[in-house]
Amino acid sequence: MSQQLVLASNNAKKASEMQTLLAPLGVEIVLQAQLGVTEAEEPHFTFIENALVKARHAAAVTGLPAIADDSGLCVAALGGAPGVHSARFAGEPKSDERNNQFLLERLSGAPEDKRDAWYYCCLVLVRHADDPCPMIADGQWHGFILDAPRGEGGFGYDPLFWLPELEKSAAELDPAHKNDLSHRGTAMRRLLERLQEQPLFKVPEQPLNGYRFRS
Ligand code: IMP
Repeated sequence: MSQQLVLASNNAKKASEMQTLLAPLGVEIVLQAQLGVTEAEEPHFTFIENALVKARHAAAVTGLPAIADDSGLCVAALGGAPGVHSARFAGEPKSDERNNQFLLERLSGAPEDKRDAWYYCCLVLVRHADDPCPMIADGQWHGFILDAPRGEGGFGYDPLFWLPELEKSAAELDPAHKNDLSHRGTAMRRLLERLQEQPLFKVPEQPLNGYRFRS
């Protein structure tokens, strides 16, 4: 039976991007909802702390290794907001449409050169809930905030995230192109590189040089 890895996200579109990006790992990816894991609280001010909480929560409930991403949009003119509050920028219940509308209101009248922004993604992989050495990787993606939405693809703020070199919004990219360029794609490639140097799931068949665990 292949090794299982729990994906600690209940955001279906984000989880689908992560599943594609994790394919090279060759392990069975199980969504946390399939194992009855509810969403963890995300009380922290930084992406890394929130990603760690989510990964540990999924590993604690399932007893399996878990990977989580905490990600969001940071807008320079808003001092980095919405940042860790990206999913609920316009309040509860979370809604991409209301978040985008709220972002447009907050930026109304801001000139083009004040609309630069970046997506940030922090990935955390834990072997078990108390793992003292979580594997961590991050990525950024720079763009500008449009003054009206464009495109139907992606999720979240993608219809407002403009990529000047491509003359497209992130919502106008096909999924593979988005994964090539995105904050999440960059973070995942970095994590996969680390996993090649330091495989998570490889257990030595023989004790190393006569080393024995104490019973
Ligand atoms: P999280 O699930 O708590 O990490 O919240 C992530 C939020 O950041 C999402 O709900 C989106 O609002 C935003 N976000 C993160 N990554 C992306 C992306 O790739 N495209 C669009 N919005 C994103």
